[in-house]
Amino acid sequence: MGEDVKRRHVAAGFAVIGIVGIISSVSGFNSWQRSLNLALDHYRTSQHAGAVVVADRLQNAIQSIYANIRTLSLLPGTRTVDRHAEQLSEEAHLTFQQVYNNLADSVSVSEVYVLPATLDPDRIDPVTGRPEEPVLMFDQLIADDGLRPSYLPHDVDWRSHDAKDAQIERFEYLEMKKQLEMLKQLYPTSRTFSPLKVPMLVSRELITCDNRYYVNSHDDADRMGLVFTVPIYGEDQQFRGAVSAIILTRALNGLLPAYDFALLNATTGFSTARSGPGQQWIWSAEVKRAQPAPGLLYSQVLPIRTDVIGSSFALWVGRNDALFWESADARGANTAAIFASILGGMVLLAMALTWVLIIRHFRQAHRMNAELEMRVAERTAEIKFIATHDTLTGLANRRRLTECLDELLGEGNAGRVALLCLDLDNFKAVNDGFGHPAGDQMLRQVALRLRGAATDRDIVARLGGDEFVVLQVGETTPAAIEALARRIVEVVREPFDIDGQIQHVGASIGIAVAPTDGTCSEILLKNADIALYRAKADGRGTFRFFEPAMDASLRARQALEIELRRAVEAEEFVVHYQPLVSASEERVNGFEALVRWQHADRGLVGPSHFIALAEDIGLIGRIGRFVLQRACHEARNWPEHCKVAVNLSPAQFRNKSLAADVVAALDSSGLAPHRLELEITESALLDTTADTLAILHQLRTLGVKIAMDDFGTGFSSLSYLRSFPFDRIKIDRSFVSEIASNRECQSIVRAVAALGQNLGMTTTAEGIETLEQLLLVRAQGCTDLQGYYFSKPMPATDIPAYLRGAPVLRAVG
Ligand code: C2E
Ligand code: MG
Ligand code: MG
Repeated sequence: MGEDVKRRHVAAGFAVIGIVGIISSVSGFNSWQRSLNLALDHYRTSQHAGAVVVADRLQNAIQSIYANIRTLSLLPGTRTVDRHAEQLSEEAHLTFQQVYNNLADSVSVSEVYVLPATLDPDRIDPVTGRPEEPVLMFDQLIADDGLRPSYLPHDVDWRSHDAKDAQIERFEYLEMKKQLEMLKQLYPTSRTFSPLKVPMLVSRELITCDNRYYVNSHDDADRMGLVFTVPIYGEDQQFRGAVSAIILTRALNGLLPAYDFALLNATTGFSTARSGPGQQWIWSAEVKRAQPAPGLLYSQVLPIRTDVIGSSFALWVGRNDALFWESADARGANTAAIFASILGGMVLLAMALTWVLIIRHFRQAHRMNAELEMRVAERTAEIKFIATHDTLTGLANRRRLTECLDELLGEGNAGRVALLCLDLDNFKAVNDGFGHPAGDQMLRQVALRLRGAATDRDIVARLGGDEFVVLQVGETTPAAIEALARRIVEVVREPFDIDGQIQHVGASIGIAVAPTDGTCSEILLKNADIALYRAKADGRGTFRFFEPAMDASLRARQALEIELRRAVEAEEFVVHYQPLVSASEERVNGFEALVRWQHADRGLVGPSHFIALAEDIGLIGRIGRFVLQRACHEARNWPEHCKVAVNLSPAQFRNKSLAADVVAALDSSGLAPHRLELEITESALLDTTADTLAILHQLRTLGVKIAMDDFGTGFSSLSYLRSFPFDRIKIDRSFVSEIASNRECQSIVRAVAALGQNLGMTTTAEGIETLEQLLLVRAQGCTDLQGYYFSKPMPATDIPAYLRGAPVLRAVG
């Protein structure tokens, strides 16, 4: 999945959560609104129902007030009311008392007055000496006459502003006077209506004020009330006065519990209202105009009908909004909304968290997959590398080499590819002598040197063991190929430091070039291998280009190999002996055992044709053992002073059984050890190891003599003389054959003879063919002589006759 796509998925997830959040918020808000509206409806309905009940109660109360004061107005005794109610009968008096009591109890009317039409509080009543008052007053205060204080002390001017009580009473009476005047004006006679339809006026009562402010402003709702007044007519149906009942707002409170209200008289515009928290709107213009207050959740105006002339009422009721918000319904709706919001928020949070976790999980899974893929890719590359590379050296292996080779040949690159097959000379000695870890180290170092010798384009491979291949790509002129081959030979010849030990190996190289020597990997490899055999056969440490003839010789070699194996099994070998002559004593003092192969077809085959092959294919041990046994047994038949010299191949030193083989041969033949001389060539010492020297010392301890064969053909013959105390030096035939013609050879022979003398070693000159050579050699100081001049190697059976005759010796003499 691309990074972009992933980012889009993540964003889409959060967008979905966001949309769900918005939708649930909107629907939550709507449902909160719905439940709030329901609560409001319920609140209004219940408020309305309560208000209707209250309005009903008020209506009854007003009717009750009206019915009572109308009764008083119609009372015969009242009709004759005069300034001091002196005409009022006892019965009327009682009736007044009764009516007052009724009203005080049932509708909380606080006062009932009888007012003569002439009432004028601004006038002093000559009888009482006080400002004129209603003629009859029934109220809580009058009920106990003794308690009623004089509202105006005699010595205080009632007009005085300080006479607060008086002022208040006066205000009330002035209101009453206004009503009286209004009634007189509106209803001067009772002729216009039936006696049962007496009109009623309502005005504001302002009774108890503590301070001037209320008197002046009339705004103390708690201490106000309404004055209900019906007219009284005399027998002549003329207006005589009035009966007033006063109901205090405080008393109305009892009739209108729990409401903010205002009671208005539609005719006169007088009103009274409860004071309290709702005061600010109770006095609002809407209320005064008898209309619902627009700002309130609940506000209503209910008509109150009394069917009384001049007294239609309206009741305004309302509720402080706080009451709704504190109601269980509203609180329930709000709590539900808050709860739903918290729940919704938590659900959204949980969704977002879950989404984050899912994203994290997928990211982690993705990362793990990527890591796994990477590891698989790495492992695959590793496996591929292992499959195509040599684990020890890190070079390409055979598989990779043939793949590359086939690819290069297939691409039409033929002709530009040279295959250099190389084999380490003497590697087996390192491996056997120092162990495999040392061998491995050497192979690694060789690999590094090869890599260094080749170019970057060239492919270096190890095919196994000490077999390497360099595939030269690019410039493959014969000169370039030769240069590379030389480089390789040189770098491999350099000493190796293996764990502090200096080791030497060499490289033999066979070269095949495409397309001349082959156009496929198989043929090229085979031909390079053939060339390699040739390089090895030609003395190692060198290189050879493939030639078709090599193939034939290799085939011949392979045929020979088969035959040799068979010959070893069948013991088709014979040993010939060549006499060794003492230069001083001029007698035969021993024979060198020289092996021959008694071939059925080819006749006697000399050792130079098969010893190297036997060494290569590991048969030398068996052949060597055979020669040792045969020579020792044969020597037993010779005169006591005759030794037998046996050649040892370097390969036999690697075989740990050499010393045991020698002991076995001596034991089984009964030959005295000092009569056995073992000849080793320089090549056996080339890789002088502690083991080789140990074996040599071991042999010396047995009493066996050790000779250095072919002295002077190696690179550092002299240094080998130092490594081991040889008994004899055999000067190579090459010096002897030229001794007559080459003065240098003479000098060399002389020098070696002198050296031998100094070191206590005998010196044998090999390959003496002529008398001249013999004489020259002897003259240089050699102690022993060998060569065709004395005898060619002969079968054992000829020895007795030879010894008997020994004609050559005589000739020497
Ligand atoms: P070598 O040990 O140096 O033996 C002497 C070789 O020189 C012999 O050759 C011998 O026939 C030859 N020779 C002696 N006198 C003359 C001479 O006057 N003129 C000429 N032209 N040659 C002369 P041969 O028998 O062919 O052996 C060749 C080599 O094979 C030996 O050289 C020795 O290194 C090796 N060899 C022979 N037999 C054995 C054996 O049993 N074991 C091993 N490991 N190597 C053997
Ligand atoms: Mg020899
Ligand atoms: Mg020799």
